[in-house]
Amino acid sequence: MSVEQAYEQLSAIEGATVVRDERMVRHTTLRVGGVAALFVTCDTFTALRRTVDALLACGVPWVIMGRGSGVIVADEGFAGAVLCLGEEFRRLRVDDRQTMHAGAAVNVQRAVQDAFSRGLTGLEGLAGVPGTMGGAVSTNATMGDSFIGTIVDEIVSFRPGTGFVRHAGSDVTWFPRVTDLPSSEVILEVAVRLAVGGVEAEKRLMETALSWRGSTQPIRRPSVDAIFADPVGEDGRMIDARGLIESCGMAGHTCGRARAFEANPNYIVNLGGATSSEVVQVIYDIMSKVRQSHGIELRPEVKFLGFPS
Ligand SMILES: Cc1cc2nc3c(=O)[nH]c(=O)nc-3n(C[C@H](O)[C@H](O)[C@H](O)COP(=O)(O)OP(=O)(O)OC[C@H]3O[C@@H](n4cnc5c(N)ncnc54)[C@H](O)[C@@H]3O)c2cc1C
Repeated sequence: MSVEQAYEQLSAIEGATVVRDERMVRHTTLRVGGVAALFVTCDTFTALRRTVDALLACGVPWVIMGRGSGVIVADEGFAGAVLCLGEEFRRLRVDDRQTMHAGAAVNVQRAVQDAFSRGLTGLEGLAGVPGTMGGAVSTNATMGDSFIGTIVDEIVSFRPGTGFVRHAGSDVTWFPRVTDLPSSEVILEVAVRLAVGGVEAEKRLMETALSWRGSTQPIRRPSVDAIFADPVGEDGRMIDARGLIESCGMAGHTCGRARAFEANPNYIVNLGGATSSEVVQVIYDIMSKVRQSHGIELRPEVKFLGFPS
């Protein structure tokens, strides 16, 4: 079976929109990379289930993506299918116990603003984080010193071959920027516990989060999530990856149109028209400099798509 056959089958699924050879610069915040052989937007759960069934039957690899703010796509593109969640997964409601139920495709900023407008506290730390609620939970997005996992009550996901699965937030192991949720599952909805807060205090927390991100992250430029995880030192303590990179003079290091962000070189910005090879070259150069100077191996925590494994 082939991508071509999968394309034909997916085109017949109601609630799924399939595009052939879709340019991934349009779907990632770093705006680099080639095409995805298939790009499918699933507006309903049934469309998602049928899409995954068809791809599995055709032997076409697939991945789920939100806003693409934590993903670098190879210049060669991805020879499989990128799935995105549409309409049905953009629903948002808050129940009478102040729990927010957000579809996985809900924009994080919409959730932050919605909670604020209801006088509910809990999400302010995510002000300024791009991406979707599904992506934020999948990567256990950080909120200052805390993680979204600390307020997740429940996750509803789709497990291919099984159907709906519910995970209590307390059953999930939340590591910095990673969880033990099965990678084969698609998160459909998340329930987060909020609390009644003071409007002024919430506003201050949001402003603090926004100003911290504005000064340490390239939130207004084409970029991607922090590239490297903080390594663990010999004494078991975390070492700040950003500090290591800065100490090697790599802030502002540039390859072609890709640059290690001057204010925080753990982020890479696209100066306009960068290729993913240039981005990867910046990553290699930083790893090599930190290895030479400190004997420490940095480990990328950003996700790569379409690169040889
Ligand atoms: C400038 C900038 C600043 C940032 N600042 C922060 C920050 O302060 N804190 C922070 O935590 N992150 C930060 N990020 C990273 C990123 O915005 C978040 O992790 C975001 O919530 C990821 O959401 P996404 O929809 O873009 O996910 P994507 O990038 O599309 O996907 C990320 C991962 O999640 C998986 N995924 C996405 N949706 C689903 C789903 N429905 N079900 C299962 N898996 C899914 C993907 O397969 C992939 O493995 C920043 C990024 C940028 C560019």
